[in-house]
Amino acid sequence: MSWPENSPPQRDGDAAAGIEVTDEFERFAQRNDVFTRAFWDDGVKSKQTDKFFASYRMEAAPRRGDGFTQKDFALRNASWLISDVISDRNAAEGKREGFQSSILCDTPVAKDKVNVDDPAKMSAEVKRISKFFGANLCGVTDFDERWLYTSRVDTRDMTDAPHDLPGGLNSVIVLGHEMDKELVATYPSALAGAATGREYSHEASIVMQVAAYIRNLGYEAVPSMNDTGLVIPYAVKAGLGEYARNQMVITPEYGPRLRFSKIFTNLPLEQDTPKPQGVRAFCDICTKCADACPVKALPFGPPSTDTANVSAIKGVRKWTSDAEKCFSFWAKLSSDCAICMRVCPFNRDYEKPVNRMWLKLALSPLRKLALRLAKDHGERKKPAEWWKVE
Ligand code: SF4
Ligand code: SF4
Repeated sequence: MSWPENSPPQRDGDAAAGIEVTDEFERFAQRNDVFTRAFWDDGVKSKQTDKFFASYRMEAAPRRGDGFTQKDFALRNASWLISDVISDRNAAEGKREGFQSSILCDTPVAKDKVNVDDPAKMSAEVKRISKFFGANLCGVTDFDERWLYTSRVDTRDMTDAPHDLPGGLNSVIVLGHEMDKELVATYPSALAGAATGREYSHEASIVMQVAAYIRNLGYEAVPSMNDTGLVIPYAVKAGLGEYARNQMVITPEYGPRLRFSKIFTNLPLEQDTPKPQGVRAFCDICTKCADACPVKALPFGPPSTDTANVSAIKGVRKWTSDAEKCFSFWAKLSSDCAICMRVCPFNRDYEKPVNRMWLKLALSPLRKLALRLAKDHGERKKPAEWWKVE
């Protein structure tokens, strides 16, 4: 049953998270995400998109300019390796794990359940364990099925297929993974793509290990990366950050410079609450990401329910990109782009006191001053500089 037949679209707690769901809401079909469309939709699929995917296997000739040499592609592709091993291991069954299917569990659920009489303590434990395995951030929210894809994709023929999630799941553990600051500074480049690939590889191992721990306690846990559902609303509801114009979650610890993964579980956990701090008000006066986007894929005005094509969820008032334009640029580069992450004034090293002071200013009524101070922020670093050995 889909929305709005089975539930009112807007729920308690949405407003606090800055989420506005309208009566036009429909759950998102993963088959329509722009990466999946690149395999079946002639409106997206092209020689350039085929070359984009081939470049991840060192099959397409890399461009030779700075940041796009064989060394740059070699590092980027090596950084993806662990993620690739996981996503390819059940390809024969049409399951591209972590992307078009959840990650299959290698650990059975233990016969005996550990008794959890204090969900708050268990949440604190799960956060500690997630950090032990390498996650930078961890939050917990409810299993809100509005953000689940309507189905997964069988990658043998790109048709819809059931998720196969176990019943009784009630929480989502959301993990944040920091991307390398020095590499992000070199976007756009194949070298910068190593920051993305490294975190996908980290994510894959971390969600699998945290899920294995929970399964060893006798509870269900399904590890997930980009598959199964949209992670951004879960991350915002879990209090990890705020949604921004550049389509990213901006966190107080790393700004927008991180990726998110998730674990669906029935382990009794205390859930976190959203923590809006003023990013929305800052994005209202800033358009640095939209200005810098080479294909003008990001919106300039206030949040709206407008969608440029089928690769956007319907019925959610928010800043929404034109994913087709964005992906066309990625295809042209033969690598991912995150210029909109690089130039964002919140993309800073918050270990430095000066940047923590800037953050306070940006989240205060003096945000215009903070924006002025960020005028030259986020300049591109030359990839060749990164390769220089000190
Ligand atoms: S990733 Fe690049 S192309 Fe896509 S919206 Fe951001 S700046 Fe634009
Ligand atoms: S660049 Fe400016 S508008 Fe874009 S996400 Fe960052 S703060 Fe918001």
